[in-house]
Amino acid sequence: MPPKERHLARREAHADRTIVRLLNGTAFGGETLALCAGPCSVESEAQIEATAAAVAQAGGTVLRGGAFKPRTSPYAFQGLGRRGLALLRAAADRHRLAVVTEVLDPRDVRMVAEYADMLQIGARNMQNFALLREAGLSGMPILLKRGLAATVDEWLMAAEYVLVEGNPNVVLCERGVRSFDPATRNLLDLSVVPLLAELTHLPVIVDPSHGTGLARLVEPMSLAAIAAGADGLLVEVHPEPADAASDGAQSLTLEQFAHLTTRLGEVAAAVGRRIGVPGLAV
Ligand code: PEP
Ligand code: MN
Repeated sequence: MPPKERHLARREAHADRTIVRLLNGTAFGGETLALCAGPCSVESEAQIEATAAAVAQAGGTVLRGGAFKPRTSPYAFQGLGRRGLALLRAAADRHRLAVVTEVLDPRDVRMVAEYADMLQIGARNMQNFALLREAGLSGMPILLKRGLAATVDEWLMAAEYVLVEGNPNVVLCERGVRSFDPATRNLLDLSVVPLLAELTHLPVIVDPSHGTGLARLVEPMSLAAIAAGADGLLVEVHPEPADAASDGAQSLTLEQFAHLTTRLGEVAAAVGRRIGVPGLAV
């Protein structure tokens, strides 16, 4: 028998807004914004170390990086797998960053959870219900990206699959949806940020890298996301974007990321938020 319908993701289910906390003090949903940044793919020790140092220096608190990549072509770089997870964890620990990384397969949830602080469920897997249930059972904080063409209701129902397993730690991530227009990689839907604030108690962050596909649009759309009320950002950053194994065109350089966080501080202040670790001014 399926469980009785409760709609745990809905605002009505929860008087307070959910705050999702990671071990290094990062909080999604509080006054302090959660800044997650790093390369699309973990490629080498030197690449992830340089990125981690720059992310921490600029005020980011979560290191992202894919070790298992959901590539459109099976011939494209698939990620370093477990070795990538180990490199990511070690670099993050050297700079007191938390780790968010994607898990593609329900059979890998336990293994990825050994290295990560937060499991990313990617857009292509938003309705992989076996993966959502396994992620729920893991008890790990989950970053749930919006599907390539998912409605808000479908997205909230995907979150429900995690919540119904007894795991309340879900963060939603808007990363753009398919549109008719190839001018940008996806159509970044910032209207969902205030809309989700009405519909759900779960925190919402924005990924302007996949949302636009163009590095030069990442800073303006990051500022807009925070102005719209997002609880944080997920941004792709690479020491040498031109040489990146994946998503170079949308990756910021380390310097561009530092510039972004400086400007972000001003917008955050305007909407009553700040950057850094809760309790610690940067
Ligand atoms: C990623 O974050 O690198 C990624 C593959 O994202 P998405 O699932 O949003 O395409
Ligand atoms: Mn990517």
